[in-house]
Amino acid sequence: MSGHKLLLSELKLWTSGRSRWRGRLHAGFSGRGKFFSSYSPKVCIVGSGPAGFYTAQHLIKTRQDVQVDIYERLPVPFGLVRFGVAPDHPEVKNVINTFTQTAKNSRCSFYGNVNVGKDVSVSELQQSYHAVVLSYGAEGNRSIGVPGENLAGVYSAKDFVGWYNGLPSCRELSPDLSCETAVILGQGNVALDVARILLSPVDILQKTDITQPALEALAESLVRRVLIVGRRGPMQVACTVKEVREMVNLPRTKPEMMAADFEGVKEAIKDLPRSRKRLTELMLKTALEMPGEVEQGRRSQASRIWGFRFFRSPVEVLADPDHNRVAGIRLAVNKLEGSGDGARAVLTGEVEDVTCGLVISSIGYKSLPIDPLVPFDSRKAIVPNSIGRVEQATGLYCSGWLKTGPTGVIATTMNNSFDTARTLMEDMDSGALDVSAAKPGSQSISALLEKKGVKAVTFSDWEKIDNVEMSRGEASGKPREKLLTVEEMLQVARK
Ligand code: FAD
Repeated sequence: MSGHKLLLSELKLWTSGRSRWRGRLHAGFSGRGKFFSSYSPKVCIVGSGPAGFYTAQHLIKTRQDVQVDIYERLPVPFGLVRFGVAPDHPEVKNVINTFTQTAKNSRCSFYGNVNVGKDVSVSELQQSYHAVVLSYGAEGNRSIGVPGENLAGVYSAKDFVGWYNGLPSCRELSPDLSCETAVILGQGNVALDVARILLSPVDILQKTDITQPALEALAESLVRRVLIVGRRGPMQVACTVKEVREMVNLPRTKPEMMAADFEGVKEAIKDLPRSRKRLTELMLKTALEMPGEVEQGRRSQASRIWGFRFFRSPVEVLADPDHNRVAGIRLAVNKLEGSGDGARAVLTGEVEDVTCGLVISSIGYKSLPIDPLVPFDSRKAIVPNSIGRVEQATGLYCSGWLKTGPTGVIATTMNNSFDTARTLMEDMDSGALDVSAAKPGSQSISALLEKKGVKAVTFSDWEKIDNVEMSRGEASGKPREKLLTVEEMLQVARK
């Protein structure tokens, strides 16, 4: 038995006294023959997006004693899988099945409708749990930083995506789609999601879980041309080949590129890494090659246009004569210094005005601090950490976009969340994280929330919302019809 702890019993018990809570007592002999007892470690996770769920999953799978409680600001779980991923990418949302399995594990609980930083502070959570993992994502957005960016008709991609995906705070956005040309600033996958949604035929969108108000607005939309603007060249774009291919194949649309943007690209292609090469080849082919007969036929039927505009940075959003709303955008023309991913955009001094009635800036999400006592690096907009361990804050961890910044797909977020879970467990094993004393966990937090009149939504409450949304969707041939307000969600949850 030497070197191992032998678990003799695992007892569920109620403690009596001022604060009553349920704990799991572990008892056994340590390697040196000494009897030990300890309560099961209680971990709290803030945020129920991929980072929160993957951190929980890894903790629960790897350690049989740990209990995990997930606190979520909204009454509904899954973060950007619900409110970010494009409605026409349903396969991406299959991760929800794995998250649901985790949520239904007897050692995991979900508490929705709890805004950490407002309803409960991080230090209150720390008092009640052995460890707190912050996984609350990146809910702010970077501003363009040019005159005119506050004009009507200028939106952040974050809000625009939130609007078509039913994020309650974006319900009122009602973007004006009565113009012909829309300009999207940024050339990442989010920019392409927005372009695709703006140009997709409504008969495609109406089979998705896009919200009904967005579907109706897009059905009435007069937008016929979407330009996707980036400050560097075709070999520096941040999107991936799958998303560009979706644009190329988007029914009833045709591409409009500028041949001059591709000067020298053909010659450079052979030295590119594989994935970048495939992406560049596709853009080059789309921009320069004479299409075959079938494609020519398809393009001749197209009523909508999309195109990349490279080597352009926004200088000013131009107003209409009444100074009320956007009428165009002034772009500085750039050239590149250096090559490859590290190439820098440098101004040429030339500018160009593009007439448009809609500007959507897709230049990145940004994490925000939620509690003044939690370390926060405002320059990088992340919680400073070492492999998920928050610097100078014992017992505090972070995962997901809050840990790394807002880049990477769900698989990337999964890996960085597993890393955080491993770090936390290492600290438990090494004693760097003290889990020997019992902690009240959700018992004390529930009491605290009750005093404030906050009623949490459990996972089975969420399943009621889920059922209502799916049956509403079924009635209109969609996978789900999302509830659009927190009030409505709470009403269904409490039935
Ligand atoms: P989030 O998913 O944002 O989750 C954070 C959670 O924390 C949210 O539920 C939020 O409500 C909650 N929260 C916030 N503040 C608080 C608080 N104070 N208290 C309690 N809870 C709080 N990846 C793919 O693989 N495929 C795709 O197709 C894809 N499409 C995307 C489309 C868009 C528009 C965006 C922005 C991203 C997309 N991604 C995609 C990337 C993917 O969504 C992210 O990698 C992932 O969601 C990041 O996970 P997260 O848990 O860190 O953040």
